Amino acid sequence: MNLISVKHVNKYFLQPAKMQVLNDVSFEIEKGKFVAITGKSGSGKSTLLYLLSTMDTAFEGSIRINQEEMQGKSNPWLADFRNHHIGFVFQFHYLLPEFSVLKNVMLPALKLRRYSSSEIEHRANELLKLLGVADQAHKRASLLSGGQQQRVAIARALINEPLIIMGDEPTGNLDSHNAAVVFDLFKKLSAENGQTILMVTHDEDIAKRSDRTIHLTDGKIDEVHLG
Ligand code: ADP
Ligand code: MG
Repeated sequence: MNLISVKHVNKYFLQPAKMQVLNDVSFEIEKGKFVAITGKSGSGKSTLLYLLSTMDTAFEGSIRINQEEMQGKSNPWLADFRNHHIGFVFQFHYLLPEFSVLKNVMLPALKLRRYSSSEIEHRANELLKLLGVADQAHKRASLLSGGQQQRVAIARALINEPLIIMGDEPTGNLDSHNAAVVFDLFKKLSAENGQTILMVTHDEDIAKRSDRTIHLTDGKIDEVHLG
């Protein structure tokens, strides 16, 4: 059963002039796969990931995730779907700088109220440990280095045990050791938890070790590699 099904998606930006950024993009992804999205700068990778994350809703064609069609859904519906099913790691972390590291990780789970706050705190601490930043838990997020903040952002993306974890170059500003730690973690989450990983990356090694690579050139898929 396909978890993600993308059919004939076109995306246009209208400003400063009308430009087609995705051109007849179609593909399917099974649950539990680790998929890399590659291509040159400007080829449409981030645009595609934003559509899949349901944060951008202006497109032609069909995007089905977990049997639900995203086209035409209201913003509150999409926000609820996203909160429950998608963990997103941005290229540059976007933590709340004035809040503690722990609070940043806990917030998406406190919003969903699936667990008590003490259970959420326990899980947040476990994730911070897994990502090697447990000793930073009570600091304000703004006091951490860029690489540490990125690992906190990854912990935050995992707190609600999302069906799909999406990252836009999530290891791009980590040193090679921490990039490998994060890659191995994502690999484990897909292999052992059945979580599906979609990762935009420039890193050839990550692309080679993924289950599948979708390569974009000028908004069109021109190669799909099975890992
Ligand atoms: P990539 O992530 O592969 O580098 P993007 O998806 O960010 O590429 O961008 C694809 C194209 O769309 C680029 O030409 C970029 O300039 C353009 N673009 C991206 N976002 C916007 C926007 N909000 N408004 C107008 N054009 C955009
Ligand atoms: Mg990009």
